[in-house]
Order: sequence, then C-alpha cells, then structure tokens
Amino acid sequence: MTDTPSYGFDTLQIHAGSRPDPATGARQTPIYQTTAYVFRDADHAAALFNLQEVGYIYSRLTNPTVSALQERMATLEGGAGAVCCSSGHGAQIMALFPLMGPGKNVVSSTRLYGGTVTQFSQTIKRFGWSAKFVDTDDLDAVKAAIDDDTRALFCESIANPGGYITDLEAMAKIADDAGIPLIVDNTSATPFLCRPIEHGATLVVHSMTKFLTGNGTVTGGAIVDSGTFDWSASGKFPSLSEPEPAYHGLKFHETFGPLAFTFHGIAVGLRDLGMTLNPQAAHYTMLGIETLSLRMEKHVANAEKIAQWLEGHDAVEKVTYAGLKSSPYYDRVAKVCPKGAGSLFTVTLKGGYESCVKFVDALNLFSHVANLGDTRSLVIHSASTTHRQLTPEQQKAAGAEPNVVRLSIGIEDADDLIADLDQALKASA
Ligand SMILES: *Cc1c(COP(=O)(O)O)cnc(C)c1O
Repeated sequence: MTDTPSYGFDTLQIHAGSRPDPATGARQTPIYQTTAYVFRDADHAAALFNLQEVGYIYSRLTNPTVSALQERMATLEGGAGAVCCSSGHGAQIMALFPLMGPGKNVVSSTRLYGGTVTQFSQTIKRFGWSAKFVDTDDLDAVKAAIDDDTRALFCESIANPGGYITDLEAMAKIADDAGIPLIVDNTSATPFLCRPIEHGATLVVHSMTKFLTGNGTVTGGAIVDSGTFDWSASGKFPSLSEPEPAYHGLKFHETFGPLAFTFHGIAVGLRDLGMTLNPQAAHYTMLGIETLSLRMEKHVANAEKIAQWLEGHDAVEKVTYAGLKSSPYYDRVAKVCPKGAGSLFTVTLKGGYESCVKFVDALNLFSHVANLGDTRSLVIHSASTTHRQLTPEQQKAAGAEPNVVRLSIGIEDADDLIADLDQALKASA
C-alpha cells in the first residue's frame, strides 16, 4: 500500500508498508530470512552498489521484511522515510551519526530514559561528541546552551519516567531559529498518542522494543525523518551536503532530497555501524503495531484509573502522571498528546526507600523487570536499577529518586491491578 494519506490511523497501522507477497500472494508480510539477494546481472549489481537503483544487496543494509516496517513507521509518524535498527539506543546513535563529528554537541533535555542519560553523558564522548543537558521548561536556558558547535536538540515527547510532557512546538521553534534539527524520542507516546513531526520535529526516534512491539518479545529501534530539513543551508551537516567519497562523490541531500537522511542512514549508517534490525524482530514488531491503537487506548484508560486511585491512597505521597489534574503538565497533554499521557508514571511512597523495596517485592501481577510498554503491567525501582548509574542530581531531574517506583500499566483488568497494588501497599507499610 503506497500514497494513501487519507486512510485513518487504525487502517494504516495494519496496511502501511504491507502488500501481498508478489511471488506467492502471502497476505502477511513474510519473514525474508535471507542474507543476500541474487543480482539480475553485473550491470544491475553495479547500479545497486552505486545507489543508482534501489534494491536489495545484503541484509545488513536492507531486507524486505525490515523495509515493510520502515514504510509503516514512516507512514504512522507522517515522515518521508525511516530506518530501522537493532534497538532504541542504536536508533539514537544512528540519528546523531550523520549530524555530529568530533567537537560537536547535542543540547538535550535532562528528562530522559536513564540509559539515554548514560549514553549521552558518557559513551558518546568516545566519538568526540558531547551533550549539554538543560531543563527544557526553561526555554531561555535551552537557547543559551546552543552554540556554534551544536548540531541537534534532543528531547522525549512524554519523558520517561517522570510524567513530563515536552512543549514540542517551543522546542521546534528554538531548533528552527538555530538552524539545527529537533530530534524527539517518541517511545513512551507512540505515534498513536503524539506525532512530533506535526509539532515541528525533524527526526523522531523510537525504541520499538516498548509499546510498538507491545508484548516484550524483541528489541528494535527506528528513526523517522520528516524530510523537511534543509541539510545544505548552513554547511553544518557535511555528511549530508558534501560529496561522499565512498559513493564516487555523491551528495546525499542534492541527490535524494527529502530522503537524504534515510538513504544516508542505510547506505552509510547501517553499512558501517551495522546496527541492523533482523527480519524476525521486524515481523514481531509489525504484528504488534497492527493492534497499537487498541492497546494504547486501554493502556491510557487503565493508567488514568489507577493513577487516580493511587493518588488517593494513604501510603502514597505523590503520583507523577500527566493525565492527572494535579500534574503541572496536565494542560500540556491537550496540546501535545490529546488522546492521553501514556501509561508510564512514578509513585512516591511516604515510607521512602524501604517501603519501595517491600512494595516491589510484594506485587504479584506486576512483574519486576527493566522494561516498559508491555501488555503486562510492570514495576521497577528506578533508583536501584535503570537510573542507578546517575548522580543524585540526575536522578532527581529524571524523576527517579530513591523513594520513587515506576509503573508501566498494562492492558489487564484495571480492578485486578488495583487489588494487587492495594495488597502490596499494605505489605510495604
Ligand atoms: C527503552 C528506551 C530507550 C532505549 O531503547 P532500547 O530498545 O532498550 O535500546 C530509549 N528511549 C526510551 C524512552 C526508552 O524507553
């Protein structure tokens, strides 16, 4: 299915990128479990290697199952193209790779998935890149952090796990004025709840491991490009605007226009970094996406009911769900993600660290795991696990202090979940 912008989300989540298999008529997208593809002849092979013709060479770069998922992701996010890769963290490196270089920096929100804080504050330094962290509610601080070496602005739409909603339009305006792309991690929201490109984002990154696949089976990541950024305007993005020696001096932006970032991601990023998504994982992810809207509606309905119930509980000091009227971000939900604030939030227990540990151990239906966005309800004590590497200041900024537990509300019966939380809160007192 191509060029069908008039279909609604529920239709596109099933049909976008998927067509009956031309060889067999298979209706579900087959898992093309192959490493290589036979060339028609020597000229065909040469044209493929020169990027003069689009086709399949080797599955580190492209694979038909993965391509179908890429098309689906691009369509659901309203982008020009998408590149899938082996994990969400892979997607983040792949998103920065064409933009950055030694001495260049990314200005990033402090409110991030714990692993992203570590990736940005530690690991990217090995490439000579750096991150400057700012509170994205302080727009003057965001502007002030951008300098001549800044190559991107980075934030999450619904930030994990503190119930924080980013004012994407304000961020996009700042990025635009500075002539740099805005990259939005849309993992917690999914394109069903929020479409960052409509708010001005240039690139959208995903951990498909979470709600998109939806049932905790495989890891995967994606980068969707809006196709609207002018990579040649400022001279700041030579990987995309200047001749590429490995492709006979081809200029990606000049040659591929709105698909420049996508083609570069495949032809250079996947070719040389090799963070490739395998076709099995792409298949599981596409199965998950077929029911995304149904699951997200239930995730949100359950989260709203449970967050309200928890807020009224004696053992609870605070609930950070942006879907609660008490949240400072409640008004922003209507603007950024009107269908709901997702199903991820934190609960602060009056009993502190000790109570949090007892609470997590006493839960039965909730699984204690380092994951989120599963059909199953999940719980984790972030401060002793996912956010353990962070300093107390970083933990506070991310909403992961020692007296806080993170819940990822699944799609079970809300009353069963409430009963489980109730008995565990009693046990934690
Ligand atoms: C899980 C997650 C990531 C990292 O994704 P992986 O697939 O685990 O590599 C990045 N950002 C957010 C918001 C996440 O939840």
